[in-house]
Amino acid sequence: MSGTHHYLIALGSNMRSPRFGTPRQIVRAACGHIENAGAEICALSPIIRSRPIGPSAREFANAAAVVAAPFTPRAMLAMLQDIETQFGRKRSGQAWRARVLDLDIALWSGGIYDELGLQIPHPGLRERPFVLGPASAITPHWRDPISRLSLAQLNARLTRPQPLSK
Ligand code: ADP
Ligand code: MG
Repeated sequence: MSGTHHYLIALGSNMRSPRFGTPRQIVRAACGHIENAGAEICALSPIIRSRPIGPSAREFANAAAVVAAPFTPRAMLAMLQDIETQFGRKRSGQAWRARVLDLDIALWSGGIYDELGLQIPHPGLRERPFVLGPASAITPHWRDPISRLSLAQLNARLTRPQPLSK
């Protein structure tokens, strides 16, 4: 696992930070931190506003980035979690609570990784419009190695009108 890896990173914020400002400003600032940590941002989507899932009443800012880095998936996760902590994120068991910054590894150029709680592709990837929308805007042809569908196809599947189930 040496050489350059490519990652699709999903960025999200639904809380203001006294230091970094609005969710949108937080997502933008997080990109600078990723670069300072030794990764190259090859493509960055527009930052979108979306409504949150779950009990949080706040608004989300979301974006996706293609990142090139010499880091293995485990080292990449550690780097992203370190940045989350620098932005004041407190880790808690509740996935949907308000958070200053959420940085997820959505896809990895090496394909599937599933060890010690780190799961790539990210298990929420296929159901999250706020990841698939921005991600398919910058890298529509990248395929999810599990469903074998491209990001454009996964996104179309979510945004296309669905027939009524009953
Ligand atoms: P979510 O991102 O699903 O909303 P959290 O950010 O609270 O939830 O993440 C919960 C845990 O998920 C983290 O502690 C992390 O170790 C684990 N995790 C598993 N796979 C991934 C991945 N691909 N990217 C980021 N975190 C992951
Ligand atoms: Mg996360």
